[in-house]
Amino acid sequence: MLYEKLRQELIDTARKMEKYDLIRMSGGNVTLRTDDDRVLITPTAMSYDTMVPEDIVVTDLEGNIVEGKRKPSSDLKAALYILNHMPEVKAVIHTHQLKATALSLVCDRLPVISTTMVDEVKAEVNVAPFTISSDEGMGVQTVKYAGKALCVILKNHGVMAYGKSLDQALCAAIYLEESADVYLQALATQREITELTPEQIEAEDAPRGYYGQ
Ligand SMILES: [Zn+2]
Repeated sequence: MLYEKLRQELIDTARKMEKYDLIRMSGGNVTLRTDDDRVLITPTAMSYDTMVPEDIVVTDLEGNIVEGKRKPSSDLKAALYILNHMPEVKAVIHTHQLKATALSLVCDRLPVISTTMVDEVKAEVNVAPFTISSDEGMGVQTVKYAGKALCVILKNHGVMAYGKSLDQALCAAIYLEESADVYLQALATQREITELTPEQIEAEDAPRGYYGQ
C-alpha cells in the first residue's frame, strides 16, 4: 500500500477535527499533497473513528484514482483546485465549525482580534460568498478570498483551512474557531470592537524565539 504513514496522519487529523468540535459524524474532509504530487484524501461519508489507512483514497492532481477502493470525499474537486492554484499549500482541511459558520451569517470578515490569530491564522479571515457544497466553487472561492490567512470561511457552510502541513492547517482551523468565538461574544455586547493595529500585528509576528521547545 502506498503512503501508509501519511494515510494514518490524515486519519489522526480528522479525529482531532472531531475532538476539537470542528466537525460532527462524517462531516468535513482532509487532503494532503505528497512530495511526488499525489493527493491523499479521506473517503466520503465514513466515520473517522473506525477509519483505517486502506480507506484513504490516492489520486493524481487531476483527480484520477491511483489507489483506493473507497469513493473519495465529495469535495475532492474543491481541494484539488486549491492545491493546483496555491503551490505553497500541501494540506487542506474542510470543517463545519460552528462559531466561524455563525460569524459568516452576520459578517464578511473576521478582523485580527487576538495574538493567537496572528500566530496561528496569520491574518484577517475573509468570508467567501455562498457556493453549493461538493462543488469546485468552494475551492475557487477559497483561492479568491484567501488573502494572507490560512483559512477562508464559506458563507452558510463552514471553513477551508490550509497550510504547508496537516498540523498547520489544523491549528489554523482550531484558532480561527477560538477567535470567532471571542469576536461573536464581543459583538453581542454591541460596543466598539478593538482590532489589532497593523503595528501591533507586525510586532506580534516578529520572530522572537520565546515559545516552544
Ligand atoms: Zn462541507
